[in-house]
Amino acid sequence: MAFSSEVITSEAHPIPDLMQAWVLGDPGELARREKPVQAPGRAEVLVRIDAVAICATNLEVIASGPPAMIEGGLPFNKNFTPGHEYMGTIVALGPGVDEFAIGERITVEIHAGCGQCRRCRQGNHTSCLNYGLNYGEVDKGHRANGFTTDGGFADYAVNHVNTLARVPEGMSDEEATLVVTAATAMYGLTELGGLVAGESLVVTGPGPIGLLGVAVAKALGAEPVILTGTRDGRLEKGLALGADHVINVRREDPVEAVRTITGGRGVDYVLECSGAANALNEAAYMVNRGGRNCLAAFSHEQVPVDVAHLVRNNIYVYGIRGEGRSATHRAAALMAQKRFDASVIHTHTFAMSELPTALRYARERIEDAIKVVVRNERQAAARGLAAE
Ligand SMILES: [Zn+2]
Ligand SMILES: [Zn+2]
Repeated sequence: MAFSSEVITSEAHPIPDLMQAWVLGDPGELARREKPVQAPGRAEVLVRIDAVAICATNLEVIASGPPAMIEGGLPFNKNFTPGHEYMGTIVALGPGVDEFAIGERITVEIHAGCGQCRRCRQGNHTSCLNYGLNYGEVDKGHRANGFTTDGGFADYAVNHVNTLARVPEGMSDEEATLVVTAATAMYGLTELGGLVAGESLVVTGPGPIGLLGVAVAKALGAEPVILTGTRDGRLEKGLALGADHVINVRREDPVEAVRTITGGRGVDYVLECSGAANALNEAAYMVNRGGRNCLAAFSHEQVPVDVAHLVRNNIYVYGIRGEGRSATHRAAALMAQKRFDASVIHTHTFAMSELPTALRYARERIEDAIKVVVRNERQAAARGLAAE
């Protein structure tokens, strides 16, 4: 590979000129193509992608476009590679990078932001004011892997050093892809809502963020942590991750059940991960006066809201965008200390070449799939050789 002399590479990690990458064509259409391997710029590294987790947002991007935004519009037929929850191995260092070394295993946070707007300067780069502005005359250098720049359904990806978290020894590639999911829950609980030890919490909806929300909240000392959902299998995963109580909303009224568990007082905080149409109202009725709600999922229709209840009870409502305030680093720290086992939510692994099948497993929840991970095959081959 002919990178400029400022880029540091290593013979131990030879880099080809071309790589395999999944590219989005028309809505719902993915094709595996050859693409050039990009050179890392200043403050960037080249990551050899080892594993990528599939997220509900991937399914939305591939089927309908947003929140991905390429060249100011929808991401279709623009040679765009989706995939944002990935981990891998550093194989090249751009100019000025000495924070990381070639060969280190890292997991990445999705948003690098632009680095020059007010929100990025505040550390809120998931709320970058220049979202999608990284092209033509409006180039602010914004980066969000798999949303405004190429993502991880490929062999290699370029990443800013600020988005990298080291993967501790002993953590599997699959578990490392879940750091950013735990980080999204962490941001919702700590930075947005200020959850502290001893506060009570309801998590509504046992999807990946909800389940890891339970795990992170327990690791942070929340008490009690109550999980609501419709499927007993998912609620059992919540118990495995530390939930003190689970409520199946098909059998019990969740607001009444939460009130009963908390002696009529309600909880301090609700992390809403169900996206149900009445979820905000139910969340508002579950919290106590002065309580907080963080909305991590949403209904696609507009929904009526009991504003009077929110106002009269001094209730806070937060919308969450991604793994804000570099929560990836804090989530990685909890996972490195084995404060919870995120791999409880990893259910399936496929080869990268089988991405369409993996996406179908995630979309249709085949075999109760929660987190489906795709791996680059050469990794599997290399591991096979090492084991012989
Ligand atoms: Zn995601
Ligand atoms: Zn910005």
